[in-house]
Amino acid sequence: MFRAERRSRREERNGSAGRGAPVSLPSFAADRLQRCLAALRRRARPLFPEPVVQKHLLYHACREALLSGQCPVCRLVAASTQQRLRHLFHESVNDPLVRESLRGSLGYCSRHAQMAAGASDACGIAIFYRDILSRVLRRLEAAKRGTRLPAPSPCPECLAEQADERRCLHALARDLRDPDLQAAYRQSNGLCVPHLERLLALSAPEIVAFVADQEKARIAALADELGEFIRKHDHRFAHEPMNAERDSWRRALQKAAGVRANLQEREP
Ligand SMILES: [Zn+2]
Ligand SMILES: [Zn+2]
Repeated sequence: MFRAERRSRREERNGSAGRGAPVSLPSFAADRLQRCLAALRRRARPLFPEPVVQKHLLYHACREALLSGQCPVCRLVAASTQQRLRHLFHESVNDPLVRESLRGSLGYCSRHAQMAAGASDACGIAIFYRDILSRVLRRLEAAKRGTRLPAPSPCPECLAEQADERRCLHALARDLRDPDLQAAYRQSNGLCVPHLERLLALSAPEIVAFVADQEKARIAALADELGEFIRKHDHRFAHEPMNAERDSWRRALQKAAGVRANLQEREP
C-alpha cells in the first residue's frame, strides 16, 4: 500500500479527513477577500517601478572618466590621490591628526612616497618626515632596551585609495542602469580587469550582463590584435607593415593590470 493511501485511511479513522482541503467561502466573503488581496498587492508595488538614478557628483565624475578612454576607477582614484597629496603638503602640515597618522605608519609606502616627492612642497615633506624620523629614532632606542615594537600601521594614502575605489565601484554598480552612463560605457575603453572583476561582484544581474557583453567584445578585439602582432613577428610575415596592433601589447598590460596613480619625480 502506498504511503499516501495509508495516511488517508488513518485520517479517516481519526476523523480528520478533509482537514487540509480548501474551504469554500460564501460568495460575498470571497469577493471581499479578493478585494483585500488586490489592495495588498497594490501597496506592495514600489512607488517607482524602475529605479531612478540620482545624477549626483560621482555619477558625472564617472561619466567624464569613462569618456577619457582610461579605466574610470583608476583615473578617479589617481586624481583623488594627487589632489589629496597636494592639499596635504600645502595646507595640512600643522594638522595634528594627519601628522600622527603618518608617524603611526612611519611615512608613506614606496609608491606614495614617490608621488609625495612629485607634490613639490619640499618644506612640507621636511616637516612631516622630521617627525617620522624622530619616531623611528625612539623605536630604535626602545628596541635596544629589549622592548617588542608594535608593527607600523598601513600607509594612510593606500587606505584612502582603497576607500576611493570602493566609492567609485559602488557608484558604477548603482548608476549603470542609466542610459546616458551606458552610452558613455559603450564609447569608452571599459574598466581594467581588476576593477572589472570587482564591479561584476558588486552589480545586479542586468548590469553584470551589460558590462560582460561590452567587455567581451573589447577583450576579444584586443586578443585578436595581439594575435596579429605576434603573427607579424614571424619571419615569413615580417615584411607586412604594423598597423593599430603595434601597441596592443602595451594596451593589454594596462587592461590586465590597471593604471595606478602616476609616479612623479621630484622637480629640481
Ligand atoms: Zn582600473
Ligand atoms: Zn601607500
